[in-house]
Order: sequence, then structure tokens, then C-alpha cells
Amino acid sequence: MDLAAAPPALLVRRHLHVAGAWVDPADGEAIPVENPATGEIVGQVPAGTPADVDWAVAAARAAFPGWAATAPAERAAHLDRLHAALAARAEAIAHTVALELGTPLKLATRVQTGLPLTVLRSMVELAARPPAEQTVGNSLVLREPVGVVGAITPWNYPLHQVVAKVAPALAAGCTVVVKPSELTPLTAYLLFDAVSEAGLPAGVVNLVPGTGPVVGEALAAHPDVDMVSFTGSTATGRRVAHLVADRIARAALELGGKSANLILADADLPTAVKVGVGNAFLNSGQTCTAWTRMLVHRDRYAEALALIATAVAGYRTGDPFDPATRLGPLVSAAQAERVRGHVERALADGARPVAGGPDVPLPPRGHFVAPTVFADVHPDSALAQEEVFGPVLAVIPFDDTDEAVAIANNSRYGLAGAVWSADENQALAVARRLRTGQVDVNGGAFNPLAPFGGYKQSGLGRELGPAGVEEFTELKAIQR
Ligand code: NDP
Repeated sequence: MDLAAAPPALLVRRHLHVAGAWVDPADGEAIPVENPATGEIVGQVPAGTPADVDWAVAAARAAFPGWAATAPAERAAHLDRLHAALAARAEAIAHTVALELGTPLKLATRVQTGLPLTVLRSMVELAARPPAEQTVGNSLVLREPVGVVGAITPWNYPLHQVVAKVAPALAAGCTVVVKPSELTPLTAYLLFDAVSEAGLPAGVVNLVPGTGPVVGEALAAHPDVDMVSFTGSTATGRRVAHLVADRIARAALELGGKSANLILADADLPTAVKVGVGNAFLNSGQTCTAWTRMLVHRDRYAEALALIATAVAGYRTGDPFDPATRLGPLVSAAQAERVRGHVERALADGARPVAGGPDVPLPPRGHFVAPTVFADVHPDSALAQEEVFGPVLAVIPFDDTDEAVAIANNSRYGLAGAVWSADENQALAVARRLRTGQVDVNGGAFNPLAPFGGYKQSGLGRELGPAGVEEFTELKAIQR
């Protein structure tokens, strides 16, 4: 499959996936899918309706007792078959992500495709474990699946965000209705091709594409959805939380971030800067955990700015299918416009541009924004406080560790962060002081079994690993 060679014929998907079958939607409306690198329409999916949501939720409800009662080993075998079917589609997934999101193909292969396969593999193993039972005094404490889950996902990691919900929910014994982002729905269809091939029991996992205000709202408000697992912006997360609270159902929310990368005076500066810039610009900065504030000890500040400028000069922006490209476009014209607005505002607020900015030449078509770095960013300014979700890095100097920790924690978000120091004990001590759900010390590797989620307005609940499975369970105490 070589989507790179020629623009593909329109990728038209006409169906929903409900009760184990590809079925016609209630309505004939369609949503076009754009290639953000060119602005061309490359695909089309149905615009689901509340009637479609009712149907899919009913299918998930009907499937729930059987799936909840399925032995762990058998659930694991189903997930294993799903993993094999998804792995067989790896090339198509990477191409589709590059096409509808604009992630450079190499990254789309390594991260956008590799990461969800790793997560799904970890869930095969966790699904096989019998549910934890505990004796507390005269009580037997059980963990039982929460029921029907509504999964609402964003466009930035279109397969990973779906797998990070579906796989642990299925492992826990829940059934699921998925609403992917309207901007990147084609990748989700590849997951459901794999669901079909793997022969998962009918209704265990269902797909209703559509817009947030129609399908997302209907799912979040549905009286027969026991839990909503949402990833996206804090503003939409707040709306979903209201809808769920109105009917006292459960919600897991993975929201925004403004993560700080603390580079202490004794750090290996070239490595810290290189990894830090790479992290901030990963997926064109459209990553919730991106370390978008780089905090550098004043003794190393000038040196760090020079290293940053060199690193940014190596980022080539362009066609996602060109192997030389390191930064693709942003997902949409609206997103690019939003990010340009943040850049203009930072300039007006007096931040000092050290790379990029609005005058850098860019490809003539598509939603491109140049990788941009500002120095001397005030910790209270909009650029240091608001999630930009684009390739924009704020650099802030500090004089001592207490000040660095205070700046890092001066955020309404609390998703991720990093600490760099030659003294690992010192770095760990600083990591403990950060009010975030994740901290990487000296570039610590991603761990698919570690709980993932945020403090403060970055969300509620955790995904991935054993904690991610537990999230989809209820506790029951039986006294004897
Ligand atoms: P949203 O939060 O609006 O979208 C996330 C998901 O929620 C999508 O599936 C969306 O559907 C759905 N949705 C939208 N409105 C509702 C609603 N009223 N009820 C239920 N579901 C709804 O993100 P955007 O795409 O608008 O991005 C805007 C900003 O959000 C970005 O600039 C970025 O700052 C942040 N963001 C953060 C992410 C993160 O992982 N932390 C991920 C994505 C965005 P649909 O797309 O079909 O409208």
C-alpha cells in the first residue's frame, strides 16, 4: 500500500460497527476527512446521530453480561487475536495517521502505531490475570467490571487514545462504544477492521463516528452508559463531566497539560536540551504530555539557548511522507490559527523569540506552523500558563531549585514533567515535589505499565497498566 506515491482515491467508510457487524447509520449525512498537509479531502465517514448511539449502547448493554462472565484467559485470548489483527495492519495504520493527522511517516510508524501495539500487548497479559479479590476482616472484597463504557477520544494520537481505553476496559470485563475524533476517524476504522477479523463477541466493542456536540454529547449523557472515559481539552472535559455528573455516572478524564522540564545546574545539558526540544515538538507539539516549559538554571541559560537554536535548526517542516521531514502540519486550519494566536500573544507580552516565529517560510499549502522558541517567558504569562498544542516552547530561567519547583507547580495543569541532574538522588527529590502524575528523570523511558494521568485540571483517573484496568472496575464488599 503506497499512499505516498499518489493521493489516494477518497477513503470512504459508510458504516458504523454495532453488535459485531458493519451496519448502515440511521442518517445519510457524512463528515469529510482532510489531509492537513495539503488541505485536500481524502476521506469520508458517517456523521453518527443520537439514534446510532442508542443502538450501539443497547448492543454494548446486551453483550455486557456475557463478556463480564467470560473467563480471564478467554478474554486475554480475544485481545491476543485483536493484537495480531492490528499488528498485521501496522503499515496501513501508519500511512493513515500520516494522511489524516500529518504525523511524519517515521514517527507515525514508531509512535502512533508502535505505542498502541505495545499497550495492547500489555493488556493481553493483564486480562489473563484473575480479578483481584481481597479479604478485609469479615469481608470479601471483589473488583467487578463497571459496565458499559463510552470512550470519547481526540485526534492527536488517533489509535493510541482509542486502544488506551478499549483494551483495559475489555480486559476488565466491560463493553465499549467508541466515538473517535471527527478529524481523524479513518484510523479508528482500521482498529474495527481488526476487531472484525479477530472475531470479538458481538457488541463487546462498537464504533459510532460523528461530531462531539452530537455523538459525544449523546454518549456522555446516555442513561445506560455506566462510565465515560474521555481524552481531550479541559474545556470539553468539563462539559463531559457535567453531563456525567447529572446522572451520577463515572468519568475518567485525560485532559490538557503545561508540563515543565527542569534542567538543574549539574545536568548533562546537551542531552537534556536535545531530548527536551524533541519532547516539546513531538507530533508538532500536539501531545498532552509535551514538556512545553523548559526551566533552565541561570548558570547554564545562555549555553542552553544556543543549544536550543541549533536543535531547532535541525527540524525540517514539510510533507509527512518525505523521509527528511521532522515536523508535519497541525491537524486543522483552526488548530494552526489557534497556535499562531499564541505566538502573536507571546510576542505582544514581550517574550524573546530565539527560533522560529511568524516570519519563517513554510510550505505553501497545509496547516503548517514553524517550530518556535521563546526565551525569558514570564512564568505567569499566557504562554507559560495555557496549553498551546503546537510546536511552541517557552524557556524560563531560575536561580535555585526551590524557585524551579515553584515555577513548575505554578500551573492549573499537572500532567507530566521532567528533571535532569547529574545527581539522581537530587533529581528524584525534585520529582517528588512536582504536582504531576508523571515525571521522567534524566530521560527515563516510557513504561506502558505505569499509571498515566493528571493532577489538578489535567484530569481524573489513570490509564494504562494495572491501574488503567482497575479504573474500569467497581468494588464490592461481601460480609460473612
Ligand atoms: P476536544 O476536547 O473538543 O475533542 C476531544 C473529543 O471530544 C473529540 O472526540 C471531540 O469530538 C469530542 N467532543 C467535542 N465536544 C464534545 C461535547 N460537547 N461532548 C462530548 N464530546 C465532545 O478537542 P479539540 O479537538 O477541539 O482541540 C482543542 C484543544 O484541545 C487543542 O488545541 C488542545 O489544546 C486540546 N486537546 C488536548 C488533548 C489532550 O490529549 N490533552 C487532545 C486534543 C485536544 P470531535 O473532534 O468529533 O468534535
